[in-house]
Amino acid sequence: MAELSISKIRKSYGDLEVIKGVDLEVEKGEFVVFVGPSGCGKSTLLRMIAGLEDITEGELRIGDELCNNVHPGDRGIAMVFQSYALYPHMNVADNIGFNLKISGYPADVRQEKIQKAAQVLQIQHLLDRKPSQLSGGQRQRVAIGRAIVREPQVFLFDEPLSNLDAALRVEMRMELSALHRKLGATIIYVTHDQIEAMTLADKIVVLDGGVVQQVGSPIELYQRPNNIFVAGFIGSPK
Ligand code: ADP
Ligand code: MG
Repeated sequence: MAELSISKIRKSYGDLEVIKGVDLEVEKGEFVVFVGPSGCGKSTLLRMIAGLEDITEGELRIGDELCNNVHPGDRGIAMVFQSYALYPHMNVADNIGFNLKISGYPADVRQEKIQKAAQVLQIQHLLDRKPSQLSGGQRQRVAIGRAIVREPQVFLFDEPLSNLDAALRVEMRMELSALHRKLGATIIYVTHDQIEAMTLADKIVVLDGGVVQQVGSPIELYQRPNNIFVAGFIGSPK
């Protein structure tokens, strides 16, 4: 069974339909990348999966459970945003552990989970620092740490590297690949960057105008694009 499946999903804001009937299956452990130009509906789709936007029409299933109306906190999903949204007054450990505290985990369990996440991300030496004392890449690791610590079934990333400079982006890309292998997690990752999509994805979903243009492995899209849009988008790196 697919880990996550969406069927005939639509989203409208008033009269404006921005997601126009999307179907997709995501397998356990798969790294799926949504790619497409700015405004094509990537974030909206991701936010519906996360439960941060209502689904206007269609079905979202996680495992065999219909999740359209399940509270975001109960979906087994954790989202990492483009802006790191760390709490500036809390140190790294407290930032990573904040959601665990809200969920009522006792302090010793929190400490253990924070240490484990910090080890995976190799930020053990930063746990006492405040976000203002971190580099961009370090902040991004902390933001990922906040997701890892909850041990979700599915990770959602919305353009997590777009605020980083080019060199760091390449480094973090490799780290994300390594992290995916290490955790064996299911990842859905949004980017407008074709190279990022081609390097990271097991499966790429090309979106344009709220419609899926093609789904396939990087090599399939490159060798056998469905249409001129996909050919142009995948074939012409920035
Ligand atoms: P992407 O992430 O691919 O850049 P978005 O999902 O953010 O695209 O946006 C898709 C479309 O939906 C855009 O036309 C955007 O202006 C519109 N949109 C997004 N959020 C809202 C909102 N809260 N209200 C009205 N329109 C929105
Ligand atoms: Mg977006």
